Order: sequence, then C-alpha cells, then structure tokens
Amino acid sequence: MFELAKQRLEPIFKYIEVDEEVIKRLSVSKRAIIASIPVRMDDGSLKVFTGYRVQYDDTRGPTKGGIRFHPRVNLDEVTSLSFWMTVKCAVAGLPFGGAKGGVMVNPKELSKMELERLSRGYIRAFADVVGESRDIPAPDVYTNSTIMGWMADEYGMISRRQVPAVITGKPVHLGGSEGRESATGQGALYALNEYIRRTGGNPSEMTIAVQGFGNAGYNFARLAQREGYRVMAVSDSAGGIYSTVNLNIEDIYRFKQEQSQLASVYCDGSVCNLLEFENVSNEELLTLDVDILVLAAMENQITQLNAREIKAKTVLEIANGPVTPQADEVLEENGIMVIPDVLANSGGVVVSYFEWVQNRSGLYWEEEEVNQKLQKIMSKEANVVYDLALKHECSLRTSAYIHGVERLAGAIVERGNKRFFSKESHKA
Ligand code: GLU
Repeated sequence: MFELAKQRLEPIFKYIEVDEEVIKRLSVSKRAIIASIPVRMDDGSLKVFTGYRVQYDDTRGPTKGGIRFHPRVNLDEVTSLSFWMTVKCAVAGLPFGGAKGGVMVNPKELSKMELERLSRGYIRAFADVVGESRDIPAPDVYTNSTIMGWMADEYGMISRRQVPAVITGKPVHLGGSEGRESATGQGALYALNEYIRRTGGNPSEMTIAVQGFGNAGYNFARLAQREGYRVMAVSDSAGGIYSTVNLNIEDIYRFKQEQSQLASVYCDGSVCNLLEFENVSNEELLTLDVDILVLAAMENQITQLNAREIKAKTVLEIANGPVTPQADEVLEENGIMVIPDVLANSGGVVVSYFEWVQNRSGLYWEEEEVNQKLQKIMSKEANVVYDLALKHECSLRTSAYIHGVERLAGAIVERGNKRFFSKESHKA
C-alpha cells in the first residue's frame, strides 16, 4: 500500500521541478515505532495488542495525525496514512508535519472499560514520542472524542501537568474545539461547494450517494442536505439504503444509533412510513447513477475492478486513499473528476489545528468562528488546487500534490541542500 501511496508523487514531476533531496526525504518515514500494549481484560485475563505510530516528516512542524483502532491496522497502512497526513497538512498550509497511529484490534469486541485501558495503554506506550510540540494525535477510524479525552488525561498523569494540546479531537468539556466533531464533513462540503460553484452547478439539482456513515460521512450528508444537495443513498460497513427521494439523514442516523447498522433500517419506523427504501450493498452504492459519489469509508474502494462501472461525474474522497492509482487513470479517462483526499478531508486536521491553537493560547472560540476560519482555509486552498489543475491541465489529485509538495520542498530546501553545502557555494 505504501508503494502505491508514493506513486502519487510521480505525476507531479512532469509539471514541476522538485529537488532530488526532497524526493529522497519524502520517500521514507522519519520514524516508525511498534509497541506492545498489554491490557487487563474484564475476565481477568491479559491480552497484548500491537500498536503503531509513524512520524513521517516534521520539516514543517510537529507531526500530526490520528490513531485508528481496526483489525486490519498494520505498519504498511499506518505508514501510507502518515505520508498522506504530511501532504494533507502541507496542502492546507498548517504548521504541521504528518504522522499516523493505530492498534490492531476490533474495538467492537471490547467492553468500554477494556477500551479505556487500551487507550491509556497506547499513550503509555508512546508517551516518549508524542507531545504538544513533537507529535499530536487525534481521532481516526473507530476512535472518537471520548478516547481522545482518556488519552489526554493519561498523558497529563504521566507528565504530572495538564497538557491538553498533546491531543486534538477531545470532548469540548475537556479542551476540545467547538466544531471539531463535524469538521471533516464540513470541510469536505466547503471544498465541494467551491468546485460546484466554479463549474456552474446548482446544489439543489445535484444527487449524492455517500459510502460510509461514520462521523465524517454522516456529518457530510447532514450538512450537504441542509445546503440543498439531494442525498439519495448512504451505506455503512453492513450495507446501505437507496431511495429515489431525498433521504432523511437525521432520521437514518437515529435509526442507526438504535439498531447499530443501516441495513436494519427496514420499514418498521417513521422513516419508512415516509419513504420507499431499497437495500443496496456497499459495492452497488458505488455504481449508482448519481452526480456526486462521496467515499467516506475505508481505503481501496474504487480499484481497477470496479472503476469502469462508476457513473457519478464527481467523486469526493472523504476517506483516506479510497481510490487506487490504477483506478484514478480509468476515472480520468472517463472524464470523472476526483476531489482528492489530501484536500477534501483536510477539514478534520484544520480544526484540530484550531484546537491546538486554542489549547496553547487558553482562549476558546465559538462554533461560528471556527467554521468561518475553516471555510476560509478550505476555500482558499481548494481554489489554489483547482487553479493549478487548470494551469497544468492535470487531475485535481496531481494539482493537490503539486501544491503540497511545493510547500514541503520549500521547507526542506530552506534547511539546506547539496548546492548549499557544496564547496562551490562556500567560496561564493
Ligand atoms: N484522522 C484525521 C485525518 O485523517 C484527522 C487527523 C487530525 O486531526 O490530526 O485527517
């Protein structure tokens, strides 16, 4: 996966010159740590979990990135995700490098208390390498604000002082930022709005299908609908629902909370009294005839195998790495625009940055202010990415990488390169 992730750099060399030392630096992670995390289970037995933290590059600032709890977590995946965080923070212009962490675990099989012990155990295992000006974790797949609150508390106990800025995505009562919960979905919507505005589209005429109904997918669907987009289909890992009428996202969310999965939203409640549903699988949802396909689940969802079946004209990547490089080529051939992850899902880390700033300054902002600042960054950077794509006649992914790598290259080269340290330049 990491080899595939790095392939994203190659197309940009056609358009911009990148110092070879920058390429060398960006081809490997700075530091990767694997730790075992022993956890006392409720039945008294001991389980040892494997935890990872990869700090990819810190040239532009302390490293930043989430921690995921998932059975398929491994070093290759965490490294790829940390690489994407590096590019993402650069695209958004944040003073951060990139990192990612994870634990190989199915959190749904743990009790709340086991989950707390695992979360605290993770921070004990990595306490020496994280820190408010070193490496700042946040939530990711199957981790949330409660878990971030436990982790911040554990770090505070280890440090013998309160250090809220060591972790972002905390509950608001524990120093979290207003607006952080919905930030990834909200940021993706701001990026999409800019794109729709520039291409002369009208949200109320646009139909959307959303794969993934976790924090990002749900908030995106809810906010997009509020702006007039018509959300026709949503799915989670167990399956999805489709309707020819605009879905009621809030009702579906309530059902999911009660029933724990979308596939169980059958016609025995208020939603179905109002609407006609059809059940669709996750694979079917991807090929629905809608204007915008939103990928908010996991990586590698559109591959060579299904890329030709995609009918949407625009793909919005809220998940990290949901389209493979080979699938990208097919989509491009078919004139399908992909608004790439490193731009589209950066709203989460942008508001994480705001949380870090608020924690360090001790002054807290209202949600309106947070969203205004988020919109400003998302619109500005999205327009730079869209302009670069027009200038170079390349995909939005390539232009986003051009934008991010130019900032990274600036930072790396400013610290000195071969030319700077060669004898020739000493003489000069
Ligand atoms: N996990 C999120 C991401 O992939 C947020 C990271 C953060 O806030 O540091 O962008």
